[in-house]
Amino acid sequence: MSISQLARTNVRALTPYQSARRLGGNGDVWLNANEYPLPVEYQLTQQTLNRYPECQPKLVIERYAAYAGVQANQVLVSRGADEGIELLIRAFCEPGKDAVLYCPPTYGMYAVSAETFGIARRLVPSLENWQLDIPAISNVLDGVKVVYVCSPNNPTGNILNADDLRQLLDITRDRAIVAIDEAYIEFCPQSSVAGWLADYPHLVVLRTLSKAFALAGLRCGFTLANQEVIELLLKVIAPYPLSTPVADIASQALSNEGLDAMRERVRNITETRQWLSEALTHCKCVEKVFPSESNYLLVRFTHSQDVFKALWDQGIILRDQNKQSSLEGCLRISIGTRNECEKVIEALKSL
Ligand SMILES: *Cc1c(COP(=O)(O)O)cnc(C)c1O
Repeated sequence: MSISQLARTNVRALTPYQSARRLGGNGDVWLNANEYPLPVEYQLTQQTLNRYPECQPKLVIERYAAYAGVQANQVLVSRGADEGIELLIRAFCEPGKDAVLYCPPTYGMYAVSAETFGIARRLVPSLENWQLDIPAISNVLDGVKVVYVCSPNNPTGNILNADDLRQLLDITRDRAIVAIDEAYIEFCPQSSVAGWLADYPHLVVLRTLSKAFALAGLRCGFTLANQEVIELLLKVIAPYPLSTPVADIASQALSNEGLDAMRERVRNITETRQWLSEALTHCKCVEKVFPSESNYLLVRFTHSQDVFKALWDQGIILRDQNKQSSLEGCLRISIGTRNECEKVIEALKSL
């Protein structure tokens, strides 16, 4: 038997997540992964690398709980929010029996994690305004153990209506976990549902340090949920999910100083986004700039493939969204520095 035949059937069939890094490109203006455009410097303060780290570093948990306005026993820290997505499947979904549900167009890792574990996927496309189709979700909930929704949604940039999220939580009560992915919530903090944990035992909120905290390379994310859910996730998490340097830097990023710096970055990115959004509407090749509450813009172009290629050739790397349902002609542009955004506009003006 060949090595590839030895692999599990679902793994052989799997298309891995097409991360911006895997897709490559030879650019100097990277606007394809919703990263913060500039590095933030940290010094390591923990030198005890001979010892294993804490599984759930106490200071990181306490500081994140204080920041998010929840109890420490309602916080789990993991190797990015992506690990949180996966832990939910590992703790709640039985291969060949249970399913996960999500609403395209949305973040790609819900599909990849489900496929990796051989868990069935139910797709309920969002409405034309990219809000949830609650009646359609309600019709296919049988066998669904985890519902993933993303707000603000990647790549569309919109927030989900709070009333719809409440309805979703009502129809799933005692049946399924509802994971609300708030990877970009720092750009619209008033829309967080973290304050709803007391009302819903099955609510899970996913967070990350990769976006507004400018720490995508750190690989640190958080799952907020009631203690019963957190304890189940702790059963399936690796014994040492975070290295000592990661915990060290994460706790600095969550200090009062770190939080102030994050909020300042959010103000800058939001201002640049408003500038870019306005400037894009004056470009001939732009059909529509969608409103955004995040650090990226979804834009529909008249000839998006030509635009993508022309900018790529000039070292400006965007994210092509043409393959996602209902996103024909759309590219996603992460908000870079003001200078990087000006380069985008210059390149588009010459098309
Ligand atoms: C970036 C992103 C994540 C992944 O965050 P990591 O902490 O870097 O794993 C999760 N969900 C959404 C919607 C994202 O855009």
